[in-house]
Amino acid sequence: MTNVTLKYASRSVPRYTSYPTAPHFSSEFSRDRYEDWLRDVDAKTPISLYLHVPFCDSMCHYCGCYTKVTRQEKPLRDYTALLVREIAILAEKLPKGQPVSHIHWGGGTPSILPHDCFLDVVEALRTHFCFNEDIEHAIELDPRTVTPALAETLGKAGINRASLGVQDFDLKVQEAVGRVQPYEVVKASVEALRAVGIKEINLDLMYGLPFQSLETIRNTVDMTISLDPSRLALFGYAHVPWMKKHQRLIPEDKLPGAAERIALFEEAGRALGEHGYEQIGLDHFAKHDDPLAVAAREGQMRRNFQGYTTDEADILIGIGASSIGKLPQGYVQNSPDFAGWERSVVAGELPIARGIELDKDDKARATIIMSLMTAYEVDVAAVAKAFDVSLEALRTCYAQLQELEADGVAEREGDVVRVTQSGRELVRLVAAAFDAYLQAGKGRHSVAV
Ligand code: SF4
Repeated sequence: MTNVTLKYASRSVPRYTSYPTAPHFSSEFSRDRYEDWLRDVDAKTPISLYLHVPFCDSMCHYCGCYTKVTRQEKPLRDYTALLVREIAILAEKLPKGQPVSHIHWGGGTPSILPHDCFLDVVEALRTHFCFNEDIEHAIELDPRTVTPALAETLGKAGINRASLGVQDFDLKVQEAVGRVQPYEVVKASVEALRAVGIKEINLDLMYGLPFQSLETIRNTVDMTISLDPSRLALFGYAHVPWMKKHQRLIPEDKLPGAAERIALFEEAGRALGEHGYEQIGLDHFAKHDDPLAVAAREGQMRRNFQGYTTDEADILIGIGASSIGKLPQGYVQNSPDFAGWERSVVAGELPIARGIELDKDDKARATIIMSLMTAYEVDVAAVAKAFDVSLEALRTCYAQLQELEADGVAEREGDVVRVTQSGRELVRLVAAAFDAYLQAGKGRHSVAV
């Protein structure tokens, strides 16, 4: 760890899974505009779908997702019926038989749906869309919910990539974050998935949790690697109790400080490197031949609401309460208010609540920010030319980079901006220099490392 990383680690910046970021979407955005965008979708170009299931068995104290706890089946069955209805509403607005190259189920805990319900939703998708032969059909799973019967259902549904949330294997850490799941539980989940042919397994770890130490995180990495995942994520815990009230259950005085967070990330990264995993972007690791590692090497990696991805589709449609979609024209978000989402779906309307239409300046800055986040380099002049925006206006952002350049985090040769090898952990700060909304001083975000 360098003093430079420590100097900037506590600064608050967005994670840039989109630009502009979600707090800047507007409730003035109209449904008619979204319908126009959907009508413009090319019938031959494959799209991506994101399905959100906002229910969990219990609430993990660290959770930053949009979800709520339910122990009953009825809300899940009701939600399924609404999802199926929303899929039909969407399909009416899109070309018939629209090809789909990528589906991602997130939450919440999508596998909490009763098995027949899960298959009903997949059936609805198959009825209205045309799945590409090489479709990636991915799901986020809570290992505590994975049984052989669930694995069989997922296999039947065509799921071919699963991400399991591990976070940390240390019992004290697990107890402090309200999610106890022994190694044997995770191992049994992975085995059940592999037994039905779901070979692509991602395991998600977390640093910055209470009671974590260099020893616990190294042990966690070693135990995780013994399960042979093809890909891992190492996310920083974002402590935002002013937004997520249940995070007040996290013992704040046991949280690692800025220097410890960096040391935890670096220790885990080192351990993963020793096991042959390559670091991809800010927080992902993959085997050399994993498609994400290949995409990163070839400059084809993308970033969306799920983080780093190989998904090449320019259109991502969100389905389910609170889900966010992206089209070339801009972003739309479904109502995060469950009742509002339900009312719209029952009325046969697209259940969107907010959105933003991107202008040329937004698109140029989005390209710059995503290039930095995925490739650590951008030619600002080339972007200005491609989007026909003022290079002089973009150059005013260079002033924001001066301190980062002086500290060896970023470097600039004319209009080419690069994040240095040693500055990669701070890439979000370099990206933030080009964020016009952040410069306007709105929003409160998580820390940089
Ligand atoms: S299982 Fe995932 S979505 Fe559900 S409460 Fe835990 S962290 Fe949040």
